[in-house]
Amino acid sequence: VGATPEQQAAIDMLASQFLLTDERLGAIIKEFRRRMEEGLATDGRVLKMIPSYVTRRPLGSEVGSYFAIDLGGTNLRVLKVTLDGRGGVTSEHQKFALSEEAKSRTLFDFVAQCVDTFLDERNLRPLGQQPPIPMGLTFSYPVQQTSINSGTLVQWTKGLNVPGCVGRDVVRLLQDALLRLGLRVKIVALVNDTVGTLLSAAYSDPAAQMGIIFGTGTNAAYYEDVANLAKWKGPNPSSGEMVLNMEWGAFDSDDFAFLPFTPHDIKLDRKSINPRKQAYEKMISGMYLGEIARNIVLWLADQRLLLDGRSSEILNAMWSIDTSYLSSGAVDTTSDLSEIQQVIEKTLNISNSTFVDRQIFKVIAILVGERAARLSAVGVVATLTKRSDLLNKPVTVGIDGSMYEHYPYFHDILVETASHFIPQEQFKNINFTLAKDGSGVGAAITAMLAATYD
Ligand code: ADP
Repeated sequence: VGATPEQQAAIDMLASQFLLTDERLGAIIKEFRRRMEEGLATDGRVLKMIPSYVTRRPLGSEVGSYFAIDLGGTNLRVLKVTLDGRGGVTSEHQKFALSEEAKSRTLFDFVAQCVDTFLDERNLRPLGQQPPIPMGLTFSYPVQQTSINSGTLVQWTKGLNVPGCVGRDVVRLLQDALLRLGLRVKIVALVNDTVGTLLSAAYSDPAAQMGIIFGTGTNAAYYEDVANLAKWKGPNPSSGEMVLNMEWGAFDSDDFAFLPFTPHDIKLDRKSINPRKQAYEKMISGMYLGEIARNIVLWLADQRLLLDGRSSEILNAMWSIDTSYLSSGAVDTTSDLSEIQQVIEKTLNISNSTFVDRQIFKVIAILVGERAARLSAVGVVATLTKRSDLLNKPVTVGIDGSMYEHYPYFHDILVETASHFIPQEQFKNINFTLAKDGSGVGAAITAMLAATYD
C-alpha cells in the first residue's frame, strides 16, 4: 500500500530471487543426495558425512546422573543430567556466555574455568583421591572424529576463530586446560551437537533417526547402515549402524552452483570469516539471516527506495540486525507495524520511518525467513529419502535451535515443503519434534554409553 512503482519493482525482484519454486528445490535436493553419496564413499568431500563412533542407542531404561559440557556458537552450558529409566530426563545446567576473548583466543581455558565453577558451586569437585568425573563434550564445529573421545578440528565456523586449534584433537586441548586447573574431569565422549540432539531424542523415543540443529548454524546427524558407508575402514559394529555427522552446512560450498545465491548473499559471504564455505548454513541459520536482511535494506536505501536513503552508524555496521528482529518483524500484526518501527527507530537509531518503510521491512523479514525454512527442507528430504527403508514405520526427527523454536512458521513451512517431496504414505510416519537443549543431554547420554564400549 502506497509503495511507488520503483519500490514495487525492487520488491518484485527480491521476491523472484527469494521465493523458490518446488522445481528449483527438487533440483537442489537431487544435488544434495549426490553430495551425500559422495561423502559416504570418500573422505574430504563437500558433505563430510563424518562417522561419530556412536553405534548404539540408549534403551530408555538406563538410570543415573551423567555430566556434559555443551559448547555452542553463542553459549557454553555445563550440565548434570539425570535419567529416570522411563525415557524421562531432568537436567540441571549453568549457562555461560562465550566472551569475545574466549571466541578468539582463550576458549579451552575458559571452558575449563566454567566446568570448575559449575562443580565448585555444587560441591561436586572431586578431591585428590577420588576418581575423575567422566563427562561428555558437545562440540558443534566440524571435527574429524578419530574415536568416541577424540577428534581433530577441521575448521572453525559460526564466528569462532581461536588460533592453533585446526588440525588438533579438541579433547586433548580441553583435557590439557582442565589439567592446568588441576580439575579431575575426564572427557569420555566427544559428540557433535546434532549427534547429541539425536541421542537425547532416542532416549525417550526409540523411533528417533535424525537430529537437526537450526540455531546459530545448521547441521544434522542420522543413523546410517554401516554397509552404506563405503569409506569406513574400522570394525563393523554389532548393531550394524552408526550415527553420521553430516556437516550439512557446507552444502554447495566452493562451486556455488545449486543454491540460489543473490547479490546480498554474496556480499555476506565475501565479508564472512569463511568465504565460499558453509553456503547452505549461510542461507538458513540465525547467525546470518539478519545480515542478509541488512544487506537488502542498504541496497534499497542506497537507491532511495527505503528510509528516504538514510542509514545510521548502527545500520552501517555488519551484523547489526539480529535474526530475532526478523522473527518479530515477520509477524508484526500491529496496525502501524509498531514493532518494526521500534527496531528501525530505537535499535537502528533511524528517525521517522514511514509506514511504507515498515511494510518493506516486513516483506524482507518474510522473504529471508521463508527461503530459509524452504531450504531447510532440502536436507531433511534428502536424508529421509536416503533412509526410505525406515519410512514404513514411525520415524522421529528431533530438532533444536532458536530458528526452529522461534522463527514464525519455520516448522510449518519446513513440514509443508517436505511433504511435497515424500510420498504421502511415508510422510505420515514422520514426526518432527522439538528436542530442546538436546545436544547437552545427548552428550551426557553418550558419556554413559561410552562406559560400555570396549
Ligand atoms: P546455538 O546454536 O548457539 O546453540 P541458538 O539455537 O539459541 O544457539 O541460536 C542462536 C541464534 O539464533 C543466534 O544467531 C540468534 O541471532 C538467533 N536467534 C535468537 N533468537 C531468535 C529468534 N527469536 N528468532 C530467530 N532467531 C533467533
